[in-house]
Amino acid sequence: MNDKRRVSLIGISALLILFASCAGTNEADLLERARVIHDEVLTVDTHCDTPMRLIRGEYDMGERHESGARGGKIDLPRMKEGGLDAEFFAAFVGQGELTPEGYAAARERADRMIDAVEEMCSRYPELVEKATTPEDAERLENAGKRAAFIGIENGYPIGRDLGLVKHFFDRGVRSITLCHGGDNDICDSATERRNPEDEGLSEFGRAVVEECNRLGVMVDLSHLSERSIYDVLEHSRAPVFASHSSVRALCDHPRNLTDDMLKKLKENGGVIQICLVSSFLKTPEPNPERDKAREELREQYSTSADSEDEGVRDRMRQEYRRILEKHPMERATVKDLVNHIDYVVRLIGVAHVGIGTDFDGGGGIDGCDHVGEMPNITVELLRRGYSKEDIAKIWGGNVMRVLRDVIETAAGTTS
Ligand SMILES: [Zn+2]
Repeated sequence: MNDKRRVSLIGISALLILFASCAGTNEADLLERARVIHDEVLTVDTHCDTPMRLIRGEYDMGERHESGARGGKIDLPRMKEGGLDAEFFAAFVGQGELTPEGYAAARERADRMIDAVEEMCSRYPELVEKATTPEDAERLENAGKRAAFIGIENGYPIGRDLGLVKHFFDRGVRSITLCHGGDNDICDSATERRNPEDEGLSEFGRAVVEECNRLGVMVDLSHLSERSIYDVLEHSRAPVFASHSSVRALCDHPRNLTDDMLKKLKENGGVIQICLVSSFLKTPEPNPERDKAREELREQYSTSADSEDEGVRDRMRQEYRRILEKHPMERATVKDLVNHIDYVVRLIGVAHVGIGTDFDGGGGIDGCDHVGEMPNITVELLRRGYSKEDIAKIWGGNVMRVLRDVIETAAGTTS
């Protein structure tokens, strides 16, 4: 072999090796870039139902758990691993009877859940602190601690007593999802089954929105009926958000927002936090047997699905799991999730989208099944060409802007 030929062969081999190693390390590089970004920007998840586990008293947030069907999806060690700085912990109350006894039980349960988040903070003061402002979140991020925001999922604990908005505000609540699975005194729900007529926001509901605006509480559109969403968007003086919802155009589910709602949300200055619930991201392929079994289960538990009785709720969940084991449903992936983010970015811009997982409340997809796997979302954003600045907005900048606007609106009201 002459020298010239040897040189060119060496050159070609070197190129091949370089090419092969690039292909191999590309994924690793992306993950490394994602981890660096998570270290450098404020990352916020606007919805989890982990307090449901906390009030049972068996779940230790300081311990690292395994995920899986019965394991928790959020704990402090995995929040750190996943580079998640701030979490909105939901004090979730299922919809019950609209009676004085119902309101009292709901209020007691919401308070108990807030207690549980506070107990977590006092048990692990070196790891996590309660947060109520964007400044708190920034300060805690710089200190290497997690920020625990508190939201209420369902305005039912407010009952018909407007003064309770202030009670919850004083306890640190900074977001209120006005309803949950059924209609309440504030507004109608996207998934009410017994009374399908959509009457939107009630007069009392308008007063609740005004009170949230006056105090500085973010109003949450997730779970609201169409008319309720439009009524809130029309009535709120401050930006609002959807803490865990996705895009109706990509997945036709009543919990998702339509293009028209998204455009109005942009006008309002608000943000939609794309949710990691598989059935909000991707329409499952039809399976009549599964649908029938789910419908029967729904009927069977129609009056107790939102029951305060944990035993009943557990039984329902177990039966639902059995149905899914028998008729498996293909889960959505991180790519499906980022398709929803892309869609919102193209429709109303990168300033109006974020992420709200619904971990421990039904959230979890292939590639991001628990909080420790959050950088995988950032990997997909990088792969699609999002800049660090845009990723910072999506991961927390946008929703913190909304919270800041809400606080400033309130300050303008009271000063
Ligand atoms: Zn929810």
